[in-house]
Amino acid sequence: MADYLVRATVKDGAIRAFACTTTHLCDEARRRHATAPTATAALGRTLTGVALLGATLKDRQSLTIRVVGDGPLGGIVADGDEQGRVRGYVQRPDVDLELVGGKLDVGGAVGRTGHLHVTRDYGLKEMYTGTSELVSGEIAEDLTDYLTRSEQVPSAVSLGVLVNPEGSVRAAGGFMLQLLPGASDAEAAILEENLQAMGAVSRAIDAGETPEGILAAMLDGFAYTILGQQELRFACRCSEQRALDMLATLSAADLEEMLREDGGAEMVCHFCGEVYRLGEAALVGLLNQR
Ligand code: ZN
Repeated sequence: MADYLVRATVKDGAIRAFACTTTHLCDEARRRHATAPTATAALGRTLTGVALLGATLKDRQSLTIRVVGDGPLGGIVADGDEQGRVRGYVQRPDVDLELVGGKLDVGGAVGRTGHLHVTRDYGLKEMYTGTSELVSGEIAEDLTDYLTRSEQVPSAVSLGVLVNPEGSVRAAGGFMLQLLPGASDAEAAILEENLQAMGAVSRAIDAGETPEGILAAMLDGFAYTILGQQELRFACRCSEQRALDMLATLSAADLEEMLREDGGAEMVCHFCGEVYRLGEAALVGLLNQR
């Protein structure tokens, strides 16, 4: 079954809730970047966070999350749009740490000190970037803190990626709850109880729970409305033409050197790992345009 996200609202939008499964897209990211288990979990959580935050975007808007900690993983970059397309990469895909209490040590790999940056691209060259300090490097807590303090929307984010012993993604997904003006303290207290009663989101998905089922548990006791469903997938915007456009920005001297030494150019997309091989003809074509 394909990955998807479901949005729900309580009281005309005073409470917003989102839940999603991301097992397939996290596994595609793992396959494309050949990530080791700890890196797989860190990247998968960030991709899932992008999918959840992406559900708040409007037409043609996009969003980038960058996690830069002082751990061995380096940085994580993930972006997504309002159509459920997400992509991302980690700087050091081979990072794999010892389990801590039976769990993948994402916080240790990311680092406990550093920053989380969220850039919202509203189109028409209008961008907004917000930054917060990392709380734990576990991603979900960091995003919760970012949304609550930097964007001033009290939120709860849960992200989970379960990795099989041989390294593939077994189950992944997450949820996000946001309180907007109009939600009462009593309602917030009930929601908090609901969240505490829920187990790890990746375990629930592994047991066959759907985004609708997760929303029902989150919003237990509330009359809520399902607003919509969105398919999620790993998708990149790179293409041979874009690779060529990038080469076109190089100097003639650089292009001539590539021709002489390699007989062409090889470009790898950071986001998806796709390799573009541009041969002699393509480079000569670019030089002839000068
Ligand atoms: Zn790509």
